[in-house]
Amino acid sequence: MTRYIFVTGGVVSSLGKGIISSSIGKLLQDRGYSITIQKFDPYINIDPGTLNPYEHGECYVTVDGMETDLDLGHYERFTGIHTTRNNSITTGRIYKTVIDRERRGDYLGKTIQVVPHITDEIKRRMLRKDEEETGTLPDFVITEVGGTIGDIESAPFMEAIRQLRWELGKRAACVHLTYVPYLKAADELKTKPTQHSVKEMQGMGIQPDVLILRTEKHLSDSVRQKVASFCNVDLECVVQSEDMPSIYEVPVSMQQQGLDAALLRKFGIPVGETPKMERWHKFLEMRRNATRIVKIGLVGKYDLQDAYKSIRESIILAGIYNGVKIELKFINSEHTFSAETWKDIDGVVICPGFGKRGIEGKIEAVKYCRENNIPTFGICLGMQMMVIEFARDVLGYTDANSSEMDSETPHNVIDIMEEQKTITEMGGTMRLGAYDCDLLPGSRVRQIYNEATIQERHRHRYEFNNKYLDEFEKNGMMCVGRNPKSNLVEIVEIPGLKWFIGTQFHPEYSSSVLNPHPLFMNFVKTIIDE
Ligand code: GLN
Repeated sequence: MTRYIFVTGGVVSSLGKGIISSSIGKLLQDRGYSITIQKFDPYINIDPGTLNPYEHGECYVTVDGMETDLDLGHYERFTGIHTTRNNSITTGRIYKTVIDRERRGDYLGKTIQVVPHITDEIKRRMLRKDEEETGTLPDFVITEVGGTIGDIESAPFMEAIRQLRWELGKRAACVHLTYVPYLKAADELKTKPTQHSVKEMQGMGIQPDVLILRTEKHLSDSVRQKVASFCNVDLECVVQSEDMPSIYEVPVSMQQQGLDAALLRKFGIPVGETPKMERWHKFLEMRRNATRIVKIGLVGKYDLQDAYKSIRESIILAGIYNGVKIELKFINSEHTFSAETWKDIDGVVICPGFGKRGIEGKIEAVKYCRENNIPTFGICLGMQMMVIEFARDVLGYTDANSSEMDSETPHNVIDIMEEQKTITEMGGTMRLGAYDCDLLPGSRVRQIYNEATIQERHRHRYEFNNKYLDEFEKNGMMCVGRNPKSNLVEIVEIPGLKWFIGTQFHPEYSSSVLNPHPLFMNFVKTIIDE
């Protein structure tokens, strides 16, 4: 019997609903339950694949090739589950399904309306009806709704939740995340915004079961008591989420306050013993003990924390497991570099991206790193920049480029993939999701992965041009990972250097707290073993 947990947010955005949803998932998993976590976003785009990272941060990619919200990255990193295209839904997708159905004539002459047609489709997806039919539903489905209570565009989602609460009875629970601001001048924590937010929800017919209060200062029992009584919520269900030194402390704090136990009681499920979360605690302890600083430069064009979220987290996790504290320095590839840029930088990641802007800076950064033997990790566009730099400076093709940036270049060492040539629509048409990659026997990557064939996730249209393969290899840049079917080059390496590896795929999407990715692990290890 599947239970459904809905996570909504009030007062302001950016409170960390994704972290809370992930933490709830993690805590239930540790009690032996199977879970999935899905995100419903109120915008009209079919998926965030076409969004500029300035709008919505990183675009995360699932194994089955869906371009999704970055919160799915948190879900996977915290819980180790694999999400799929069913885990990231937008208003656009809901409407598209309904409109396509209407065009097919499936509604038999009915007037199609937000209620019930749009809300029914939302409910169908919230309930994960397809999985229900195949009997593959997990014990808990956690649904996070993007946006803030009161937004016009999330109203149909709220109506769907209201109906589901009613229909599912004790099999549904609503968790609402709000903010308790601290007013310095008054030296007071204010619960009024929370009260208003809950009132707004109640106005929509939804009574939250659990309130999680984001706060910069510890909340006393009397503050929690006040919220409980004004919002009709049990005291044990008013939980605080204080600022933490790391997001990975959040599940522990939630467990200490009994959030998972309170939820189980709501569902009428026996609570049982509190899981020890040994591996998680061990990880946190390693994090606290890691004091030696390793400085990694992130060369990219988006000066925004969320744009390279999974890469950041993957490096930080690899640092913790290697016993060091990673300090990430953003290096804007659109600015000119100086000696100051590279001062104290122990390793460099050349970030993914699209389009011309900032690529000459990335190429310059690659050159500096290659010539100065600085450990360097190129990811997707970053790998392509390694290839272009090598073609320009080692092979002597000074005009070498990717046909993405210069369609006229005579030396298109990075070229559009064959199957991409006929594609005209931008949304969801890249080479997306997990593909096999054979690792060259005897290569460093083969050793690092300790496997002959791996699967990694992709998101690109352009590729290494195999016409130049021999020339690259003769001159020292080796193609050490290939797709067994298409022969596409997925990994390049200059074996003579300390660590100079570029991957066409995105290893950052598959690094999790309890299973940090071997490439990031080895990258950091090489830096500290020096
Ligand atoms: N723009 C490049 C391509 O489409 C790289 C994409 C990426 O970095 N994700 O091939």
